Amino acid sequence: MSEARIWDVVIAGAGPAGLHLARQLAEAGAAVLVADPLTDLRQAAFSSAALPLQAVEQFGLPPQVVAARWRGWQLHGPDERVRDWFADAPLGAVLDFGSLRQWLAQQATAQGAVVQLGWRVQRWQAQAGGASAWLRGPGGEQQQLQCRWLVDATGQQRALIGDPDLRRAALVSGAGVEWLLQMPLACWQRWADRLSFMLGSQWVPQGYGWVFPMAPGQLKLGVCRLSDPSRPQPPLHQLLRGLQQRLQLEQAQVLDRHGGLIRSSISRREPHRRGALLGLGDAVSTANLLGGEGIRHAMASSAVLAPLLLQALAGQPAALHRYAPRLRRRLGWRWGLSGRLARRTWLGLKDQRGDQRLERLLQGLERDAQAEDLAALLFDYRFERYGLRALPYLLGWHSA
Ligand SMILES: Cc1cc2nc3c(=O)[nH]c(=O)nc-3n(C[C@H](O)[C@H](O)[C@H](O)COP(=O)(O)OP(=O)(O)OC[C@H]3O[C@@H](n4cnc5c(N)ncnc54)[C@H](O)[C@@H]3O)c2cc1C
Repeated sequence: MSEARIWDVVIAGAGPAGLHLARQLAEAGAAVLVADPLTDLRQAAFSSAALPLQAVEQFGLPPQVVAARWRGWQLHGPDERVRDWFADAPLGAVLDFGSLRQWLAQQATAQGAVVQLGWRVQRWQAQAGGASAWLRGPGGEQQQLQCRWLVDATGQQRALIGDPDLRRAALVSGAGVEWLLQMPLACWQRWADRLSFMLGSQWVPQGYGWVFPMAPGQLKLGVCRLSDPSRPQPPLHQLLRGLQQRLQLEQAQVLDRHGGLIRSSISRREPHRRGALLGLGDAVSTANLLGGEGIRHAMASSAVLAPLLLQALAGQPAALHRYAPRLRRRLGWRWGLSGRLARRTWLGLKDQRGDQRLERLLQGLERDAQAEDLAALLFDYRFERYGLRALPYLLGWHSA
């Protein structure tokens, strides 16, 4: 089946990036279609979805997508010590990722965008004045769409734009597995109000574990690890079970199991465009590997691209040359630094030496930092607070 209509923009992927872009473009009057193989955006909610409060406010996220708020940190170190830091007011939120996508889709649709669920964009081809995209539907049916611009917002899969050339922008990859747990309120209470992380090679070699609060009685328990082809790595589900045991969460009922990959280049030098195809969000490495988070960065990439794409639709395609540099500026130099730090920190957590280095960092934080400082470190990447002299060491330019 083919359609005669020519869309201004077809977006592959109804994640935070694709839907936020669709909403902005549709609001400005563009004819936009978003396609995603998911038939229900509340399903396959793979993301832990922890964010700083500033991002919740910046993107105007409503209470219905916020599962819990947090105002503190609890860090379980390699030496089994538990350290915590609390602020008086909330510092961030844990979103219900499924509800976030659902709400973003409603916003986009209300502005006139078409969200076509159950459809995967399989391939594309440039053509005069734009692109053709071939889609496959839930029952195997085929559809061909014509558009002036096509956007790859398929996340780390990069289904259309493809993986970057390794010499230009090698991808660092992290894999995560997470369970949604249900438990009595009395057990839940000790994890409420805070983001808890389990750090050290005895918890999760070359990665970290976490417990995040959701609605009362529910928690997210997860592990994430950077992939290291030079070493054998234990299966993630085994590490997750270990975490569950050590944290005495075995009695909890498992409501959902999910997981996924985070893959970003550190240099972010990959092409953001191939002719009429533009990459967005995780598809162009906006996810940050330090805290394994990327929702706000993916949405920021939409905020950068939307006005440029509108200019292109209005007959000024050269505006799109500004996309990659503007996005780089928006993410900032700290983004790149944090990626390097992430690689160094997580990959180094494989033995006693890595644990000792982390232990020293935790001791320093315990001595000097407030809860707000930890948020500034992990979400604003403000490493210099811990002394610029420490940076070369943190980045691995000097050994301990
Ligand atoms: C285990 C885990 C935990 C995480 N925790 C956090 C966290 O705490 N905080 C945070 O901010 N971020 C977190 N992230 C990262 C965050 O989820 C991503 O950075 C964010 O979702 C990226 O948004 P996106 O729109 O670019 O891509 P995605 O959210 O990945 O959306 C891509 C969409 O494209 C669709 N798609 C795929 N192929 C096709 C195709 N061929 N055609 C059409 N559609 C297609 C997919 O179904 C999907 O809906 C986590 C990620 C993982 C894996």
